[in-house]
Formats: sequence, structure tokens, C-alpha cells
Amino acid sequence: MADKRDYYEVLGVSKGASEDEIKKAYRQLAKKYHPDMNPGDKNAEAKFKEASEAYAVLSDPEKRKQYDQFGHAAFEQGAGGGGGGFDFSNMGDVGDIFGDIFGDLFGGGGRTRRASNGPMKGANVRAGIRITFEEAVFGTEKELELNLKDECEKCHGTGAKPGSSPVTCSKCGGRGQVVYTQQSLFGMVRNVQTCPDCGGSGKIIKDKCPDCYGTGYISRRKKIQVSVPAGIDDGQNIRIRAKGEPGVNGGERGDLLVEVSVSRHPIFQRQGFDIYSTAPMSFAQAALGGDVRISTVDGDVLYNVKPGTQTDTRIRLKGKGVPTLRNKAIRGDHYVTLVVQIPTKLTNEQKELLQRFDDSMNGRQPEEEPEKKKKKFWEK
Ligand SMILES: [Zn+2]
Ligand SMILES: [Zn+2]
Repeated sequence: MADKRDYYEVLGVSKGASEDEIKKAYRQLAKKYHPDMNPGDKNAEAKFKEASEAYAVLSDPEKRKQYDQFGHAAFEQGAGGGGGGFDFSNMGDVGDIFGDIFGDLFGGGGRTRRASNGPMKGANVRAGIRITFEEAVFGTEKELELNLKDECEKCHGTGAKPGSSPVTCSKCGGRGQVVYTQQSLFGMVRNVQTCPDCGGSGKIIKDKCPDCYGTGYISRRKKIQVSVPAGIDDGQNIRIRAKGEPGVNGGERGDLLVEVSVSRHPIFQRQGFDIYSTAPMSFAQAALGGDVRISTVDGDVLYNVKPGTQTDTRIRLKGKGVPTLRNKAIRGDHYVTLVVQIPTKLTNEQKELLQRFDDSMNGRQPEEEPEKKKKKFWEK
């Protein structure tokens, strides 16, 4: 194993490559060197195996971490720090492990290429939580309760009654697939199909486990902590790794995808990381200037408006918006539209004051006022 090439070098990616870059690089190599594309070419086959091995490690965050730390030694049996090692000689048909990639590579036909009794990742589970506007802004911890499948303890996931064990399916010989050959105009055609007798598992359960009715799984009510990051928006998903359904044949668990619904706020609206709201100011404040109280997600602030501020003036409170998901310290802004309030209930004294103010603005003598008012009234 000493002369093994570096996995990053094999895939032609940098040490810091993202999951997507790794997948893309592997996909290209797999396409190029896949044995089906290069029948009988031993060199292509070796290249394909090498790329597949590199991908198996680098696409798995845990294994990649081990590899980054210990290099190839991480997966040698008995080597220190290996954590159990990773035996490639057991990989069998490399296609088994890369079902997801081959599904993409070869379209629908790729599915049958994968022996269906190989390890498969469990299905993702979807759930939803509802949070308040403020919780979305500042982040929160939520507890989610849901039913999750677990391996049945009685039969250890085999589905067979304790004391008995599943028998190898006689129809497919345990492969989970059956091959039909058909004579056609162009010669013999091979069709690969999921075995109808065992449903692809390769095994037949004669005596079903009474606890799980032969399914191998038991559903349990579970509580799961969800860390909601500050800045999350309505409709976004939080992925919790390995909290989905159990994998098949030693495959890893699926993920839990939690969709976040954010409740509407009576005052604040959100657009991206900015917050929008309106705030009232009195006519006198608008005309004379002064401190206007404004609600923000950080609490009330006093904003000093300039004398002669018009209604619908929009101001910006910098950094009072929503924290960005990448960096809590970087926040959007809060835009406030200041709206002048027209009083609807006035005392006689206030009415008189306003009238005098209005007369003064129109250059009339205050003494004229009561006469005029009366006249107007009688005219109607
Ligand atoms: Zn069971
Ligand atoms: Zn079968």
C-alpha cells in the first residue's frame, strides 16, 4: 500500500475541494474508465477502481477526516488511528456503493446495475417546525417529536423469528436480481430485474419475527433537538445527518430534513436579511423635529428626526436587520417608514389651537376666525 497514489491526486482535486467538486471529478473519471465503456481494458479497470476507492473515502466526511490526518495508513488493518479500518477488498462490485452516482450516470438503467442487496443509505425523513419571527432572527433550540424507525432488537433487523434465519432466495440465488435473456432481431438481449420472490433483498423469511412482523424495523417516538441558526428564513430546511431511516445492509442512516415555517410578525416584515416596518410620528414631531420611538428586533430605539420631516420618509437603521446565516455578526438593515399621524379626536381647546395655527399659516388675524367659522356653518 506504500506506493498508493494520493486520493486527491487520483481525482485531480485540491485538498480543500468541496463535496460537489469531488463528486463531479469522480463522475467524470467513472464515465471515462467504467468497465462497461472499456470492455476488456485492464488499465481502464484499474483506473476505475483507483478512482472509486478515492471517491469512497473522500465523499465520506468521516473517512475523509481520517485520511487527511493519517493518509492511507488510516485504512490499513491494524494500523493505529484507523478506527476499524476500511477494507476495500470487501467492496465487491464497486457499483454497489455508488448507486447514487450510477443512477445519474446511466439513467434509469443504472439502478439495475447495483446489486440490490448491497449497502444502501436509508431514506431521508421530512418534518416541519414553526418558529416566531424573533426566533428566526436570533436562532433557537427546538425539540421535535416524531416516529423514527429503528432496527428491531429482537431479530437484529433480519426480520426472521429468533432462532430461525432468513434463507437465501432460491430464485435469484441471493443476488436480489434475476436476468432474463430474450431473443430479438438483433441477437440476445439481457434484461436485469429485481427478483420478484424476495423483492431484491436476496433473502426469504420463512418465520417472521413477531415483534416487527418480518420488517426488521420498529417505529419509535423520538425527541430530536433542532438547532435553528440565526438568520434562517421561512421555507428553508435544516439537515440533521443520520436521523432519518436506518440504512439497508449496513448502509448509513438517512438524514432528517426539517422545514422551517416562520410566523408573521405584527410589525416587522422581512426581505432577505433586511427588516421593514412603519413607525408613527406626530405632526409636531415631523414639523419641529425630535425623538421618535421606533421598535426594532433589539428593542425600542429613539431616532432623532429633522425638523420638517415629511410623512412616508424612509430611514435606515444600519445593522438592525437579520443576522446572515454565514456570520451572525454581519446583519442586514432595518428600514423604517415614518408616518405622520393625523389626530382623529381633539378637545375644543386643541381644535382652537389648530385653527389658530392654520390661520397663522394663511396670514389671517386670529380675531377673524370665529366670525368666519359661523358664516361657513350657516352657509351650508
Ligand atoms: Zn424483528
Ligand atoms: Zn430473490
